Amino acid sequence: MHLLESIAHWVKVTPDRLAHISDDRSISYGELGARSDALAAWLDGELGNRKVPVAILGHKEPEMLVTFLAAVKTGRPYVPIDKSTPPSRVERVLEISEAGMLLTPEKVASLSVSGGPYEASNRVSEGDPFYILFTSGSTGEPKGVVITLANLNHYLAWMTGDYAFAPGAEIFLNHAPFTFDLSVHDIYLSLSTGGTLFSLTKETTSDLKRMFELLRSSGITQWMATPSFAQMCMIEKRFNQEMLPGLHRFFFCGEVFAHETAVQLSERFPTARVFNTYGPTEATIAVTSVEITKEVLAEWNPLPIGRVMPGTRILIRAEDGREVAPGERGEIVIAGPNVSPGYLFRPDLTEKVFAAFEGTRSYRTGDWGRDRNGMVFCEGRMDNQIKLHGHRIELGDMESNLRALDEVADAVVLPVKKGDRIDSVAAFIVLSGQKAGSDFEQAAALKKQLSERVPPYMIPRKFFFLESFPMNANGKADRKKLAESLG
Ligand code: AMP
Repeated sequence: MHLLESIAHWVKVTPDRLAHISDDRSISYGELGARSDALAAWLDGELGNRKVPVAILGHKEPEMLVTFLAAVKTGRPYVPIDKSTPPSRVERVLEISEAGMLLTPEKVASLSVSGGPYEASNRVSEGDPFYILFTSGSTGEPKGVVITLANLNHYLAWMTGDYAFAPGAEIFLNHAPFTFDLSVHDIYLSLSTGGTLFSLTKETTSDLKRMFELLRSSGITQWMATPSFAQMCMIEKRFNQEMLPGLHRFFFCGEVFAHETAVQLSERFPTARVFNTYGPTEATIAVTSVEITKEVLAEWNPLPIGRVMPGTRILIRAEDGREVAPGERGEIVIAGPNVSPGYLFRPDLTEKVFAAFEGTRSYRTGDWGRDRNGMVFCEGRMDNQIKLHGHRIELGDMESNLRALDEVADAVVLPVKKGDRIDSVAAFIVLSGQKAGSDFEQAAALKKQLSERVPPYMIPRKFFFLESFPMNANGKADRKKLAESLG
């Protein structure tokens, strides 16, 4: 059944059930169906035959879902942009994606009022782009990952096949922003199984008292989030099974799931099942999974990322492209129907990491990995991509944007670790002129300028000003030496 038909089924049989709750806003299945139909008709009227992406700038408003569904009903992919994105970066995303339309939740609320059922005869089909997510690119430009309906279907088929979701009864926590593909898991597993999506907004998660109050009354049964979010929650002693009695399954994805976090979590939620999953946006949410049982905890530290989903392969390759011997370390390469066609309008970037593979596509992840009898381990990055509190960032993206500032002659950005985890990012700066005031004042000035170019999570916390960078033997800035100076 087409994904839109699975959703339409719930619109028909449970029109009054809430499809989405986001802070004090909510939308029922009936409203979601009617409003996305009306918006779809409006989009056709505005865009005619142009099958261009539809961009929406917002956060987690119910109108985001209305727009996602409306776009794909008309055969157009959608591009979510978080409202925390500075205008210049929004502009770039619109240019790069060649979006035909930029909507906002306010605009959608004023448009999608009424109208008859929409005849979705041109809806997105298997091979068409379903959504485009922009991620950090190493040269300072965001890049758009194209995900087709077939890619998404492969993921949903795995999840619904291997994990039971009670039809019409689950409540899915949504912590990830809609610009991060963990949210795609929440949205479409929920809507296609008649569940309720329970979003935590950024405003809520920055007010912990309110967040725990909301969580307590949420009734959530399913959880997908980064380990960083669970760690944050565990600061609160009462974050446990008593607070969330219905929560019976945790999925983690997006960054290293530390052994210690897993131990603590299973103590807090003794009857819930906990899974570590792994995957990049380019291979649609996640491709491996493992249940973190007592036995797994006893056997492995660091934890594995699990076994690969059915119909997809993981290859561990050496630099020369050949597969390494079993158990040896190499690059994790993913091949299967879940692998994206590539980066939107960037054949140059696409060809570097994607390739045709036995009738499907393969993607070189840039992750070091190892396969022990089918149990896969992820052992960190081969490049300068990092995960900071769950956000995927290319250090090169931050550096390029810093170098673009008038006052900056050169910049190196490095992760600052607390134990094994990246806690923040520090910038080393060579100024093009005199320092304006104290280090603190100069740093504040640069942070302000940078905030006009990149999202808040891409602004370094600490700034160090140097006359020049130490050089390595190749005459490049010596990152190792700079890292040592961070202690
Ligand atoms: P994203 O595209 O934002 O999902 O980021 C993908 C990257 O996050 C992967 O290439 C890995 O480097 C990292 N990652 C995702 N899941 C895990 C995991 N379970 N353990 C370790 N790293 C992970």
